[in-house]
Amino acid sequence: MELTVLGYYGGYPYAGVGTSSYLLKSGDYHLLLDCGSGALLALEKELDPLQLDAVLLTHYHHDHIADVGVLQYYWQLQAGQKKEPILPIYGHLQDPLHFGSLTLPNVTQGFGYQEDTTLQLGPLKVTFKRTEHPVPAFAVRIEEEATGKVLVFTADTAYFPGLAEFCQGADLLMTDTNFLADRTGKMAHMTTTQSANLAQISGVKQLLLTHLPQAVTPETLLAQAKTVITTIPVTIAEQGLTIKID
Ligand SMILES: [Zn+2]
Ligand SMILES: [Zn+2]
Repeated sequence: MELTVLGYYGGYPYAGVGTSSYLLKSGDYHLLLDCGSGALLALEKELDPLQLDAVLLTHYHHDHIADVGVLQYYWQLQAGQKKEPILPIYGHLQDPLHFGSLTLPNVTQGFGYQEDTTLQLGPLKVTFKRTEHPVPAFAVRIEEEATGKVLVFTADTAYFPGLAEFCQGADLLMTDTNFLADRTGKMAHMTTTQSANLAQISGVKQLLLTHLPQAVTPETLLAQAKTVITTIPVTIAEQGLTIKID
C-alpha cells in the first residue's frame, strides 16, 4: 500500500498547496481520501482521475470536501475510459444535506457509513471512530487485507483518550497536527506534542504529521514532535510525498 500527499493544510490552501487530500494505492486500486481545496489539480499530477475507484470523506468541513463538486464535473465531462462508470463517494450519514450532495445522478453515487460500519473497498477494509470535532468527523483505520498493513488517519480531532486504542499498532499513523505545542484551551485539532504522544502510546511504526498550520516551518514541527518521541520515524507532510506502507 502506498500513500501520496495531495494537500495537507488545515482550513485553507496556502502558497500553492491545498488542503486535506491523499491518494491511497493498493495494487491497481486507487482511493482518494478526502478531497479538499486543490485536490483535483494535485491528483492530475499523480493519476488520471478517471482511474479512481472510490472517494472516502472523513467529514464535511470545506477543507476536506472543497473539490468534490469539480471532481463530479470531471467525471461527467472529461473524455476517457473510466475505471468505474459511476464514482462511489463514501461519507457519513449525520449531515443529510452534505451527504445528499455526494450523488450526482449517473455520475457519482453517495454511500453512507456510520461509526460501526465496516466497509470493504476493493482490497481494503475500513473501520471508523467518531472524533472530537465541532461537526461529526470520523477517523479511519484502513487495512490492506493481503498484507495486514494498516494506515490510520485521525481525520480532524482534538486529542481524546479513546483515540489511542483505534490507532493501535498502525504501520502508518497520520495525525491532524494543526497546532504548535504551546496552544492551550479548547481545541478542535491536536498539537505537535499530542500527535507525537498518540503515536507513542499507540505503538505505531511511523508517524506523518499533516493538516498543518500555514507558515510554520517543517523543522519547527519536527523539533516539537521529537521532544516526545525519538524511536518512531516522524515525517512532515509535503505535497507529492509518497510513503510506502509495507
Ligand atoms: Zn480540516
Ligand atoms: Zn474539520
